[in-house]
This record gives sequence, structure tokens and C-alpha cells, in this order.
Amino acid sequence: MPHGNEGKENRGEPRAAASSGASDGGSAGGGGGGAGTAAPRAIVIGVGEELLSGRTVDTNGAWLAGELATLGIPVHRHLAVGDAIEAIEEALLWGLTRGDVVMMTGGLGPTRDDRTRQAVARALGRPLRQDDALASSLLERSRAHGRPDPPAAYLDQAKVPEGARILKNTLGSAPGLVLEVDENVVVLLPGVPFEMKGLFRDAVVPLLARRFAATLRPVRSRSILTTGIAESVLAERVAAVLPPESDPVEVAFLPRLGDVELRLTVREGAPDEAEAWLDRVEGEVAPLVEPYRYRAESGSVVEAVAARLVASGRTVAVAESCTGGLLGARLTDRAGASGYFLGGIIAYADEVKVRELGVAPEVLEEHGAVSAQTARAMARGVARRFGSDVGLAITGIAGPGGGTAAKPVGTVWYAISVGEKAEAHEGRFHGGREQIRERSVQAALALVLGEMKVD
Ligand code: AMP
Ligand code: MG
Repeated sequence: MPHGNEGKENRGEPRAAASSGASDGGSAGGGGGGAGTAAPRAIVIGVGEELLSGRTVDTNGAWLAGELATLGIPVHRHLAVGDAIEAIEEALLWGLTRGDVVMMTGGLGPTRDDRTRQAVARALGRPLRQDDALASSLLERSRAHGRPDPPAAYLDQAKVPEGARILKNTLGSAPGLVLEVDENVVVLLPGVPFEMKGLFRDAVVPLLARRFAATLRPVRSRSILTTGIAESVLAERVAAVLPPESDPVEVAFLPRLGDVELRLTVREGAPDEAEAWLDRVEGEVAPLVEPYRYRAESGSVVEAVAARLVASGRTVAVAESCTGGLLGARLTDRAGASGYFLGGIIAYADEVKVRELGVAPEVLEEHGAVSAQTARAMARGVARRFGSDVGLAITGIAGPGGGTAAKPVGTVWYAISVGEKAEAHEGRFHGGREQIRERSVQAALALVLGEMKVD
């Protein structure tokens, strides 16, 4: 096999034993190659009770995972602990047995519940020492904010584990800290997301890139975005060409409401080799999903819809019942929407469908508000009313009430009109009100893609 020195089978194994705490730190960023020739990997630890209680979503962990993978230090394990010193210590020591880089966020601030520095000092046997330069810069910062006599706890932030390298935080008070522990690197960052991101980009990335220069292995991935096809149907369609488990290209199906992303990932090999593997798998999968595929940097189907409308010089207007303006909102999410979006009508009540969109009362009477006929009439009506090239309409039962045996909750008709031509489709969406509305919007947007093939 062309790959495999660091095969998937080894991923669960511990790394070098935990540090005895005897290393003389302070040389982070000073070159060196990381542990052996294997690609380095990271353990990310979020610190804070709020992460355990679920009051705060661990967005730091998610963000760092993406950044570290791009850098070439993929995250191997990801955990969250509370604010207790013992828990933080335990997590750090465990992390050191599994990863080359242990990243911790949170608990560095000036309040009682910020105990990361103490915990790290204890775990590594590196007592806290005041850093005088840091103390005076904290004092200066406090003065600049009109507080010449900050509380003692504020200045405690200048007490750092012996040998720690200090990463200056220009966006907040708590500095980042880096400790070399044998072959490993421990990085401590503040919990506030924008401070954490700033420090990571400005100080941590250059440091890790230097430190692990010889072994970085950026994760490469590709997205094949699809809409208008269920995950299971998509999976069946491509099953025959999916690479085997042993292949360096991993394939993940990532469903969102109304969309499925097929993500191809390679975690090994030289850059050219990795790109070639991705090309191979993409080349096999792509033709099978082409009718459902869209391309968008942001991942959003609206981006693809906007691109196609702009490319074809067409404008769109929307008529919405059960989505109450959500389709219009989505179409105007992005800057530049005025280039293709004219406006819309929220026609919730039947009389509004008649009065504002010109839906014939007989159509409503005969087929009902949730029907192909009504959806088509709404799409045509709104296009006529606004003078748009394309009309989009949604009418359905978002629930939780209002369903019948023939038209259960989740029954949605969505339609597109282009000139006098109009077509409607029925969705039987599942989920709660929010999911049904979201899926309806996605389905209507997918109609535009189907109508205007440009790619
Ligand atoms: P700390 O640095 O522990 O004082 O955290 C400061 C604030 O940052 C907390 O109140 C949270 O709102 C936020 N925060 C901490 N950790 C995370 C995390 N892992 N993900 C997102 N936000 C966080
Ligand atoms: Mg905290």
C-alpha cells in the first residue's frame, strides 16, 4: 500500500507515556520535530462547568478541530471537563498520553472558578510563579481601562506555571500559555471564543507550524454537496463506487435539513498523492450524484441558487404560506441579493392567496390550499405581480395541528414558474414545525437549481 505508516488501526493507541514533569520547559517554537515521524495529533479539552451542563455549546472545540486539521495536527480526542482542579489535572495527564499537542481552552481568567493555571501547575509539577513583565502589562491594561487599582485576583493572572511561554492577548486580559512537556506541547487559551481565535491564529499556529514542521500532515478534504435527495437514497446510489475501509479516502455522509454533504477526507500521504486519491474517488462518485449536486464555497444552497440566477440574468419572487417569509429570508441572506431577488408575498390566509396572488377561488375550493394547483397558481401569480422571471411558491402543513389523513402534517407543495410554465412537487416532510419549514425552503431552492443547470 502506498500509505499506512500511521494506519487507522493505530489511532486508538496511547502515545508516549505521560510526562514526569521533569522537563525544563521554555523552548516552544525552538525547532525540533515533534515525536518521531508520525503525524502529530491533538487532544482538545474544553474547561468549564457550562460546557458540561450544556448551557454553553463547545464551539471552541469545533473551531479548533477544523483549524488544527487544516494545519496538519488533526484532533484525536475531544473532551470537556468542569472547573474542578482534579478534573482538569486528570484530563491534561490523560491528554499527554494520547496527543502530541494538548489544547485547553477556558479557566484562565481572574475569577475563583478559573483554575486551569493551578491545575496545570500541579499536574506538571511546575509551581506558579509571577511573571513580572506580564504583571506590569496587566496593570497597564487595567489603568488604560480606568482601573488603576485592580483587585488582587486580576493580577493573579500573572502567575504562570514555571517555564511557561506567554502568548500576549491583545483582545482580553488572560494570556495564552505554552508549555513544553517532554516531546509534547501544552497550549492553554482563554475560553472567550474571539480571544481564543485571535491567539490561536496569531501565536499558536506559527509556533506549532515551526515545532512540528517535519511531520505536519494537513488533512485534505473535499465536499460533494447535494440537495433534493435523501441520505439513504444517495448512499445506495453511490454504494458501488465507495472506497473500501482500508482506503486512505474516508467518505462521510453528513445530512442536514434537505441537504446531504458527501465529505471525502484523506489524513495521510504527501500532498500530491492525497489530491490524486481524492480525485479518484470524486471522479467515481460525482457522475452518480450529478443531478443533485450543487457547488458552493459556503456550503449553502442559496449561494448556488444566487450564482445560477445571476449567471442566467434572471430574477425571482416568492409566494409563501407555511414558511411565512423564511424562503425570502434565505434568499436575502447573502449580500448582493438585490441582483436577483425582487420580493415576496406571505399569503398565509386563503383570501390573501386570492387577492394578492390571483389564485382562483375555485382552485382553492376544489383542490385545497395545500395542493399542486394552488402552489402553481401562487408561483405564477407572484411572478406576474412582481414582474420576475421566476416565481417560487410554498404551501403546506407545518403542524403540529392541521393535518388530515389525506394531507398529514408535513405535506408541502412547492412550485416554480418560469414564464407560463409551472411545475409543482409534493414533499412529505418529517420533523417538527421548524424542520418542516426548513425542508420546504430547501426543496423550493433546489427547484431553482433543477431549472437552471449551469455547472
Ligand atoms: P473562561 O475563560 O473559562 O472564563 O470562559 C469565558 C467564557 O468563554 C465563558 O463564559 C463561555 O461563555 C466562553 N467559553 C468558554 N469555553 C468555551 C468553549 N469551549 N466554547 C465556547 N465558549 C466557551
Ligand atoms: Mg470558565
